Amino acid sequence: MAKKQAKNSTEPQGPQAHEFQAEVAKLLHLMVHSVYSEREVFLRELISNAADACDKLKFAALGNQDLLAGDSGFKITIAADREAKSLTISDTGIGMSAEEMVANLGTIARSGTQAFMEQAGDKQGDVQLIGQFGVGFYSAFMVAERVDVISRKAGEADAAIWSSDGTGTFTIQTYEEADRPARGTVIRLQLRENAAEFLEDLRLEQIVRTYSDHITHPIYLAGDGEEAEARQVNSASAIWVRPKSDITDDQYKEFFGHVSGVYTDPALTLHYKAEGRSEYTVLLFVPQDQPFDLYDPERRGRQKLYVRRVFITDEADLLPAYLRFVRGVIDSEDMPLNISREMLQDNPTVAQIRKAVTNRVLSELKKCADADQQTYAKIWQAFGPVLKEGLYEDMERRDQLFEICRFKTTKSGDEPVSLKDYVENLKENQTAIYYMAGEDADQVARSPQLEGFRSRDLEVLLLTDPVDSFWVRTALGFDGKPFKSVTQGAADLEAIAKPDDDTDGKPEDDTSIATLVAAIKQTLGDRVQDVIKSERLTDSPVCLVAGEGGLDRTLERLLAKQKTTAVEKSAPVLEINPRHPLIEAMAARLQAHGAAEDICDASELLLDQAYVLEGEAVSDPQAFASRLTSAMTRMFD
Ligand code: ADP
Repeated sequence: MAKKQAKNSTEPQGPQAHEFQAEVAKLLHLMVHSVYSEREVFLRELISNAADACDKLKFAALGNQDLLAGDSGFKITIAADREAKSLTISDTGIGMSAEEMVANLGTIARSGTQAFMEQAGDKQGDVQLIGQFGVGFYSAFMVAERVDVISRKAGEADAAIWSSDGTGTFTIQTYEEADRPARGTVIRLQLRENAAEFLEDLRLEQIVRTYSDHITHPIYLAGDGEEAEARQVNSASAIWVRPKSDITDDQYKEFFGHVSGVYTDPALTLHYKAEGRSEYTVLLFVPQDQPFDLYDPERRGRQKLYVRRVFITDEADLLPAYLRFVRGVIDSEDMPLNISREMLQDNPTVAQIRKAVTNRVLSELKKCADADQQTYAKIWQAFGPVLKEGLYEDMERRDQLFEICRFKTTKSGDEPVSLKDYVENLKENQTAIYYMAGEDADQVARSPQLEGFRSRDLEVLLLTDPVDSFWVRTALGFDGKPFKSVTQGAADLEAIAKPDDDTDGKPEDDTSIATLVAAIKQTLGDRVQDVIKSERLTDSPVCLVAGEGGLDRTLERLLAKQKTTAVEKSAPVLEINPRHPLIEAMAARLQAHGAAEDICDASELLLDQAYVLEGEAVSDPQAFASRLTSAMTRMFD
């Protein structure tokens, strides 16, 4: 299919066919066969790409005026040709070389391609989300049976045209010198029969006003026919420099959609101007829902940095990673315009802005948490685990972060509690904030280690996010109360009264229990660090805990799983419940008959059982099965 390659790359070549990358082909299939009701979003996406292209050239030209080749005008033009049933969207932006068109428009799948298809798969209506996934260009195929992209990169002589009907392949052809278009990109859509609405000026204007009014470059509607005059259809003013009182909720929402790809209401909007040592305007949003790539290691902050209305970059780390869900714009009045992206890293103004804006975002979150619990619950649900990363990444603001953290506890039900509330409800003589770590809150809540806490009506935080294992080990405490794992070290529960003491008043037989402890210890040898009488058990016969100095057992397991730190598993402490009938019976048997085989077997089975309760495997399944079999045989003897 591909014609012979010309020897000299500057010479025009015939159309070369390329295959779409497999995932892109699938995405296109979805677009071509789409039954989406909001097809008009294709125009929003193409305008957004055109505006990005203008932004990029404007920035690049700061360092190299030649790129503008005398034309410093940036604009986007939409033109409908009703006779030909085609629509073009042109821009005077940075353009693409033939190689860039091959890569960007078909052969390199973006990380969001798969994610978008998964979303679209179960929610056919959600084409609105497409911008969020960085695959907006392809939405053109919802309305077009054929798409041509004509582009000439700023500063280059060559130009090329990309064409496709969205099935299987696309072609690239370079232009003869005489026919080369001007700098920038033209996207020409040959509209489908059922997309004629997008030839109507009124409809086009309405779409631009709904979705693209805030684009800072002028958008013209060309009008059809020779005589028609192009007219500007957006206000082309940067929304963030306008006074708050002039901006409607819908306008904020539209802009939030533009910076986040999510066209719903933001959970929080922060719009203010900072004056003082440095001057800048901030318009930031906290979304309501998680974006698909929140945990993608490649994901950066994506807040856009402008300098006096000129877009500089969205990769400047304007906020710490644990606030990476915050989207929007920061526009500096006093940074130099010709700052290179590399120089931003250690620019003192950026550092100062970062510090101040981080504090402001945290204090706004706190305000929201205090004043509007419903909204904050949503924010916490979506971004809590990310905010908690700050607890170990940003020691300086740890206390500020603790104030906005919320936790599920053994008593919280669906509404997570704040540490402040937890501390206010401490029981008499309770000196620590108790927590239990694990992977699943329901499972953790059923752990035997919690029995003694529950019987004393003590609240225990259930830490089930992977990040919890990182911060809780180093956190000093909150409000003077240390964090203490319920599965580690001594439980220290004796000083805390039980509301309704359900023991039968019968004192346990200390000597016989002590003998049993010694016998079990002897049997289990170095597989346990120690065997001790438990304060934390009320219903179960045994449980495992970690020794005082070591790592909490659940944390140890979680860390081993994450494989980021080398963790050596240490032998656990086996706690036995002196009031449990089984333990009492074992103690009595030992007293009467001395250490026999059945005491050894029972000790082994108790250790295995404790492991099984923690979701771990028994160490020797054959031995376990044979002991269990003989125990059952005795049962029926
Ligand atoms: P996104 O815009 O989110 O990156 P798209 O699928 O819409 O994803 O576009 C893919 C890429 O193609 C863009 O990142 C950009 O590099 C390039 N591109 C698209 N439209 C244009 C345009 N009008 N001018 C220059 N480059 C463009």
